[in-house]
Amino acid sequence: MERIAVFCAASEDIAPVYAEKAAELGTWMGRHGKVLVYGGSVSGLMGQVARAAKAAGALLMGVVPTRLEERGKVSDLLDVTFRTDNLSDRKDVMLRESDVCVALPGGVGTLDEVFTVMASAAIGYHDKKVIFYNINGFWDGLLRVLRELEAQGFVHRPLADCTAVAHTFEELTEMLN
Ligand code: AMP
Repeated sequence: MERIAVFCAASEDIAPVYAEKAAELGTWMGRHGKVLVYGGSVSGLMGQVARAAKAAGALLMGVVPTRLEERGKVSDLLDVTFRTDNLSDRKDVMLRESDVCVALPGGVGTLDEVFTVMASAAIGYHDKKVIFYNINGFWDGLLRVLRELEAQGFVHRPLADCTAVAHTFEELTEMLN
């Protein structure tokens, strides 16, 4: 798995442990020759993972909607920049350019990205997985809801086919290898 899409928080106002874990992932990606496909922003966990990845030698591909570019938060570390008109195009490009997706803690933007990837996998558009990196049990609530949906027959394809959960950094890197 060479190209890893990382979905994660733009917020800066979050516990420091998330930034540490994002940076740890970025460093690992650089050291293992991975390409980071992400939102291209300097903000929040996006900035953390990208700075660490770049410092360790990773190639950065940023997928940037014009509206966010206008706000001037685009990283100047990007090796490749994709510009998109809107958030829907951006998700398409992120998915197209990556082999696997990792969800770090995030807000509604992250949830939107995760659900789009899962929904399109469920009806057969692709076979890429979303790996939930469950730092501090951040994803427990969502995972509970997803299990409930599956138990009640609302899920088209077994969740285990298109999702995985990494509880530790070691589990995550094993899945990414
Ligand atoms: P959120 O989880 O709501 O903080 O949104 C983060 C996700 O949405 C990231 O994975 C990005 O792809 C996208 N996103 C949200 N805000 C920005 C921003 N300022 N710049 C670039 N991408 C963003």
